[in-house]
Amino acid sequence: MALQYKTKGFIYKKRDRGEADRIFTVFTYDFGKINVWAKSIRKINSKLKSGIDIFYLSDIEFVQGKKRTLTDAVLINKFTEITKTPEKFIIAKKVAKLLDDFVKGEQHDHEIFNLINETFEKLNQLSCRRHCDGIAIPEAIQSKGTNSRLPRSPNELAHNDGKIRSQLLYLSFAWNFFAILGYKPQIINCAHCHSKLNEKELYFSNKDGGVICKNCYVPNTLDSRFSPHFAGEAGRGNDIVINSDIIKILRIIFKNDWEILLKLKINLETQKQLNQISKNYYLYLLSNHKFSK
Ligand SMILES: [Zn+2]
Repeated sequence: MALQYKTKGFIYKKRDRGEADRIFTVFTYDFGKINVWAKSIRKINSKLKSGIDIFYLSDIEFVQGKKRTLTDAVLINKFTEITKTPEKFIIAKKVAKLLDDFVKGEQHDHEIFNLINETFEKLNQLSCRRHCDGIAIPEAIQSKGTNSRLPRSPNELAHNDGKIRSQLLYLSFAWNFFAILGYKPQIINCAHCHSKLNEKELYFSNKDGGVICKNCYVPNTLDSRFSPHFAGEAGRGNDIVINSDIIKILRIIFKNDWEILLKLKINLETQKQLNQISKNYYLYLLSNHKFSK
């Protein structure tokens, strides 16, 4: 007799099969990532279709045979605002892509499950009004003597809107996800020589796994487009210059302080640097480590 299972899960990928079937990839609470086969779900009278779709959190039941066949699906949360708002939908797709890239095996992980759920709840609730009454980074972490530049022009402030904040939510998800996998970057001392960091001369090194000092910085003398060290490769020489705001933002991200994070005013240069180190670290981890979670 085939075994029947019940769990809750977050649906992040779907593919059509045959005339009316569909395969869903689900990050479940009890089993981690699984694929479930939903028979005839694309037919008009399918009873399953109201309970399961992309970016739903659902209770699912399936039988385990050669493959897993979905027998019931009950919606828990649809995250309606995400599918209605293009900028939120783009972020949801980026979260799904990251899960698809990094989650390979089937193993439950409640920390990852909770992180996905929390990220989608925040993304769903995020206000996308044009301007926000943000707070500056130094204020946010109550540090003294920082040389952080505040946004100057109205134009620059206008960028600090829903799009930026939803991107921050994504980055917070990505960095915390890497931390759960065991790749939390070193941001307190130099990741290479462990000396105290000077906030005026900071660099990010994928290979060393964090922020490094000037002495450990290896300048990239080759054009990065042709460099064998670029992004994904294990070699050094791909270190990126960063400013001290990056460390402060990463600290807030690892504290999981969403309220502060979403109120931050971040200037364009810092946004660029943050996006660049995040993307490079992502590619570096992906090509240098085998992920089995
Ligand atoms: Zn160093």
